[in-house]
Amino acid sequence: MYQWRFAQTAANDPKIRGSENEIEEKLMGDLVRYAASHEIGHTLGLKHNYKASYAFPVDSLRSPGFTNTYGTAASIMDYARNNYIAQPEDKGVGLTPPILGPYDYFSIQWAYQPIYSAKSPEEELETLNEWIAEKSNDKMYLFGAKNGMGDGCLDPSVLTESLGDDVIKAAKYGAKNTKLIMHNLVEWTSDDPDNLKEMQEAVLNQYNQYFKHAEARLGGVYTFESTNATHPDKFVPVSKVKQSEALNFMLEELLNQYDWMNNPEISAIIGSYDLDIMTNQGKVISSLLSRSVLVRILRCATMSTQPYTVGDYLGDITQHLFNVSNKKQESNWMRNLQTEYIKQLQKLLKDNNADGGHAFNNLIMADIKTELDTFRSMVTTKAKKGSPSSKKHFNYLKSIIEG
Ligand SMILES: [Zn+2]
Repeated sequence: MYQWRFAQTAANDPKIRGSENEIEEKLMGDLVRYAASHEIGHTLGLKHNYKASYAFPVDSLRSPGFTNTYGTAASIMDYARNNYIAQPEDKGVGLTPPILGPYDYFSIQWAYQPIYSAKSPEEELETLNEWIAEKSNDKMYLFGAKNGMGDGCLDPSVLTESLGDDVIKAAKYGAKNTKLIMHNLVEWTSDDPDNLKEMQEAVLNQYNQYFKHAEARLGGVYTFESTNATHPDKFVPVSKVKQSEALNFMLEELLNQYDWMNNPEISAIIGSYDLDIMTNQGKVISSLLSRSVLVRILRCATMSTQPYTVGDYLGDITQHLFNVSNKKQESNWMRNLQTEYIKQLQKLLKDNNADGGHAFNNLIMADIKTELDTFRSMVTTKAKKGSPSSKKHFNYLKSIIEG
């Protein structure tokens, strides 16, 4: 819990810096209190409500007045995390989840308050439904336990480990904090190698959450659960602008993370992290090009009036990965990203041909084939100019495409 709180709030809160046994009892007590009350919520019959954090505007989580009244989410039954959005200059902001949120008081009232006028459980229903109707336009009482409309679709407003009503705005604040924490990691933790390695991992795990949150917007579908049995749930696809904003966030981070992640002060104590960075970057690329994400984007596009097509999506990735400065193009990690991208596209095409695919896969393949055709001519041109190592790299990419 200490690592968790450190990775989420050390940029704002000097009290969480230092070794674990130096942290004041009150702060650790708050963390234990939150975890215990969440579990007691379950014993009283409450389900997870992952939408409770979506009730709060991102900027409110930077306000001392708001956060000291409401904490970080409208319910302790979300995975309501410590305030990773608060920036170092936001003085006096509340950083921990609430003791209880408005949603918790309401759901306990709904479940346990006696209704003396009712003679049977069925007779209670009218009053219970009235209580829900009274809160139906208030975001504090939003509920979401289901993630999306099933079949792999994700709802970016029903995420675990996230805070606020805009995952990308929140992720940008979070990532900014991660960079500050990594820059000061030795000073803010210790120079003991084992401890430093653990803390580095904790901070980067938190950073990886921002990628998961962003990815949920790709082909995402918002679900509005109905409390009325005669009205079905409603599904609204994430807009083209919001999807491409999420992809841009991920790619910008990927293209600018190598230097701050490979901090020489940390490497001097625990060794270089460069191979792990490149491995992780490869994982992000294969996740962006996984069949599940591509199918989600395609299905979301079929539900939208202004669709973000798989072709648009692949074109955006290509643009980011291949229109880079000469300095980036000469780096090993950039070449690794480009190689992973082409390998993954080629793999998707081959696997699909091998297993025959299914309806959605077949449609995606047309876009993948088009993108690979575009690459063939681009890579052939690039293999003829540039530095000797650059020529070798593009020749290699050409050989992958030619399979
Ligand atoms: Zn739980």
